[in-house]
Amino acid sequence: MAISITRRWNSEIVRLFWKQVGGLSPFTAIEDVCTELQNQLGRSSPPFQSEQYEFARLLNVRVIENEISCDGVLALAGTRFVIQVRRNTTSERKNFTVCHELGHVEMLRRATDNLSELRSLMDARTRLNEEEMLSNFFAANLLMPRKDFVDRASQLVPSLDSLFQLARTYRTSVASTARRITELGVWKCHFFWCLPEARGFQRTVVRMLGKPIISESLQCPYKNAEYVTWGVKPIILAYEGNKTVDDRLIFQKHGGAAAEFWRLEAARHDFENETRVIALVRPE
Ligand SMILES: [Zn+2]
Repeated sequence: MAISITRRWNSEIVRLFWKQVGGLSPFTAIEDVCTELQNQLGRSSPPFQSEQYEFARLLNVRVIENEISCDGVLALAGTRFVIQVRRNTTSERKNFTVCHELGHVEMLRRATDNLSELRSLMDARTRLNEEEMLSNFFAANLLMPRKDFVDRASQLVPSLDSLFQLARTYRTSVASTARRITELGVWKCHFFWCLPEARGFQRTVVRMLGKPIISESLQCPYKNAEYVTWGVKPIILAYEGNKTVDDRLIFQKHGGAAAEFWRLEAARHDFENETRVIALVRPE
C-alpha cells in the first residue's frame, strides 16, 4: 500500500489518533502502535498471535466467538471493549478479524481518553471506509510486521508453496498473506482466485473470482475480466487433480509488440467455505 502523506483525512477518529501518536501519516502512526504492542507482548518472531488472541488480552479486550452474520462486531460494554467474531470460519480468518477490530479499538482509545467522548466518537462513525482501510492495515502490520515479513518472504522463491508456508508461519489466511506480499512489493507477481467453468460443447473457460491481487510495480499482461480463455488447462488440472500445476503463459499483444512470457502456477485451495483455485502469475 502506498503511504500518502498529503491526503486529507475526513474521519475525526483518524485525525485525533494521528495527532496523539504523531508521525508522517496515520499509516506510520499505525506501524508505530503495532511495534509498541509487539514489544509489550514480547513477540519478535511469528506467529505474532495464536488462537489465544494474545493482543486482545494485552489490551483487556474480550473476544467472544458467536454465530454472527458478518466477520466481526465491536461494542463497548461499560468501559470494556468486546469483540464478537464469527465462529464458523477458519482460525486464520478469526485471527485477522480480531486484529482488525483491535485496530478500531486502538484508534479510538488513542483518539481520546475521555469515556463520554469515546462513546460519541463510536456513535458518530461516519467516515467508515478510512477507518476500515486503516484497521485492515493495522491487522496486517500486527500479524505480519513489515520488516520481519519482508526479510522472510524475500528469502523464498515466489511460488504458491512459499505463499502457503508464509501463511502457516504467520497463522494468517492465504488471501491476507498474498495481499501483504503484493502491497509490500516483496515478490513481483499477481494472485487471483478462479474456477474452471464449462461453456457449451467441450469448451471450458476460467471464471475469475474477484479482482486480482497485483504487486504495484508490475504491469498486468491481461485485461481484468470476469471470464478469461488463457491458463485453462493448468487451472483444470489443478482443480481436478488437486495438485500444484506450473505452466508457461504467452501473451501476444497487438501492434507487433514482442510476445511476453509469464509463468502460471495453480493450486486447489479452500477459500472460506468454497473450494477454488488460487493462481500465481509472474514474469518468466
Ligand atoms: Zn472494521
